[in-house]
Amino acid sequence: MKVAVFSTKEYDRHFLDEANQGSFDLLYYDTRLDLSTARLAEKIPVVCTFVNDRLDSEVLLRLFAGGTRMLALRCAGFNNVDMSTVKNLGMRVARVPSYSPRSISEFTIGLILALARKICKAYLRTREGNFSLEGLLGFNICDRTVGIIGTGKIGAQVAQGLKGLGCTVYAYDLYENRDLAALGIRYVSLEELFRSSDIISLHCPLTPENHHLVNERTISQMRDGVMIINTSRGALIDTESAIRALKSGKIGSMALDVYEEEADFFFEDYSDRVIQDDHLARLLRFPNVIITGHQAFFTVEAMRSIARQTIDNIRDFEQGKLGGAGSD
Ligand code: NAD
Repeated sequence: MKVAVFSTKEYDRHFLDEANQGSFDLLYYDTRLDLSTARLAEKIPVVCTFVNDRLDSEVLLRLFAGGTRMLALRCAGFNNVDMSTVKNLGMRVARVPSYSPRSISEFTIGLILALARKICKAYLRTREGNFSLEGLLGFNICDRTVGIIGTGKIGAQVAQGLKGLGCTVYAYDLYENRDLAALGIRYVSLEELFRSSDIISLHCPLTPENHHLVNERTISQMRDGVMIINTSRGALIDTESAIRALKSGKIGSMALDVYEEEADFFFEDYSDRVIQDDHLARLLRFPNVIITGHQAFFTVEAMRSIARQTIDNIRDFEQGKLGGAGSD
């Protein structure tokens, strides 16, 4: 059975080939899936995509008309998929809900420490032979309060890790995780979390309800000099409001592994091109901002797990074992 695999780099192909062992005919495209590239999946029953592929209504209708019946997402989040169209068309969809939460949680804690101790700034400085400590004054995170928004698989691990490092950890979620509460992690209202946290880390999925959860109003409720970490989805933060708050000092530091307009840039090499997105260009100039290109998941363990689960999902579809839309 043929599978059109979009948004693939060399590393994706390596792990998918390893998991596939020749079972399926994987047709690799490095291009992203959108309306203009959907024709590449003509007459191909399975389309395999990643975080920045477009699976809106128009693209889905085009794929369906071309014979595609299954979407195999190589990621956990499915905010880029128009699920109501998927349902109406009766397409099958499978994702990889839990490939390696540890990869993202460890990366998140790494970003917090890098910002608190200015490790990236120090790295750049010592490479120039500058060993002065001016401007590198950091703070102990063990004395701080961290607010975790979303305590699912990833957020729970971040909360536990930070608790282990001695932080006071507050959490907000639509559902409380009793195991976390038993560890002394306190569930509070969103307002209290904003008001009390020195560091805020986002781990909820992007939904229409929490689009721009971090905005002008909510930032004003936060502590002066707050640190914000986003390894979840870019559009949880209103970038314009964040830039204003960074300029005023209201936000003291920020690390973004995801960015609301990342689709045109992330996973690509722009080092010899002028970045046309003024917000991204501005964010890259702040000395107290770390931007990484949607890298938190990127470990050997996660890539292997994503590839295996994706091939298993396609096999389930082939054998008629896959349930309706939204199936894991
Ligand atoms: P999960 O489904 O296990 O947990 C999400 C949690 O968020 C749940 O407990 C849910 O109740 C909660 N939640 C939902 N809406 C909320 C809201 N409005 N406010 C507060 N909490 C809310 O998901 P996960 O595996 O922990 O992943 C979290 C997010 O991380 C994913 O949605 C994905 O967007 C992102 N992610 C990023 C990367 C990366 O490489 N940067 C990799 C994987 C996942």
